[in-house]
Amino acid sequence: MRPPGHHAGRNGAALGASSRGFCYLNNIAIAVKKLSKETLILDIDGHHGNGTQEIFQGNDKVTYLSLHQSPNYPGTGHFTEGNCINFSLPSNLGGHQYMETLDKALSMVDIRKIEVIAVSCGFDTHVGDLATLGLVEQDYWKIGKKIACLKKSAFFVLEGGYVGEKVGLDIDSFLRGYEENK
Ligand SMILES: [Zn+2]
Repeated sequence: MRPPGHHAGRNGAALGASSRGFCYLNNIAIAVKKLSKETLILDIDGHHGNGTQEIFQGNDKVTYLSLHQSPNYPGTGHFTEGNCINFSLPSNLGGHQYMETLDKALSMVDIRKIEVIAVSCGFDTHVGDLATLGLVEQDYWKIGKKIACLKKSAFFVLEGGYVGEKVGLDIDSFLRGYEENK
């Protein structure tokens, strides 16, 4: 869905950010609150989900895990705070190091207690996009596979991704990686 949601906090702009980052409603937060289950929110958008962190900070049912580019908008997520685990990464990190970081990040979560994985699924980490981490289409297949291999219920909510001719291909790659390995 558009627009994305993860910058929308409890009352508009979150954690001191300068704007709402094109977001009106925090779509994934609404879904996770409605589900009310032990949830891992995995935020793979290239920007930090300051709104999602603000909403779930200190919530013992929800773990928020974000891999994002820094420095970049919204200028938050530089360190881990309780149930909100953050990885600030340099632009054009590349797929290999990204997957190593994702492995490390997931190892910090007690997956056994998680019932649902909610993915804030942004594609602006693609090479040349607004928060690039140097990923290409095939890397999203690997991320989808990684999530499938956790063997949990999962759902995906679209966040960013602004290079029009790439986003559809990346989404398709991601979903195939998930579907082919679950
Ligand atoms: Zn983004």
